Amino acid sequence: MTSEYRKPIPEMDEVSKTFWKGLQRRELLIQRCRDCGRYQFYPRPLCVHCWGEDLQWIRSEGRGAVYSYSIVRQNMMSGFAQELPYVFAVVELEEGVRLSTNIVRCEPDKVSVGMPVIVDFERITSEITLPKFRPL
Ligand code: ZN
Repeated sequence: MTSEYRKPIPEMDEVSKTFWKGLQRRELLIQRCRDCGRYQFYPRPLCVHCWGEDLQWIRSEGRGAVYSYSIVRQNMMSGFAQELPYVFAVVELEEGVRLSTNIVRCEPDKVSVGMPVIVDFERITSEITLPKFRPL
């Protein structure tokens, strides 16, 4: 954590609160529908597959693969400019859901589609920890 964190900070709401609390404990939680058995991300009050309301929180192992990515070489926004180049990526977890994230602890040019990754937690404030991913 740094008091100098200058990038946008996510806001918790009633639905996402459990997700953010999990990240504080270094647990990546995703929702699973008890009606149809499927997973979803990001957190929502209803199942996106069957509209069921009986959702449970599951702790993901945080393993997945790079589904898509882009190496960002230009970003003038405060907080981002100092980290160039960085990798913005969509990671598909083994549970089948996809997250927008960053690939960290890896040279950007070494990232590839399909590369196995695992969650890597970045605490940015006392309340917010972000799920990033590193090579497995
Ligand atoms: Zn469902």
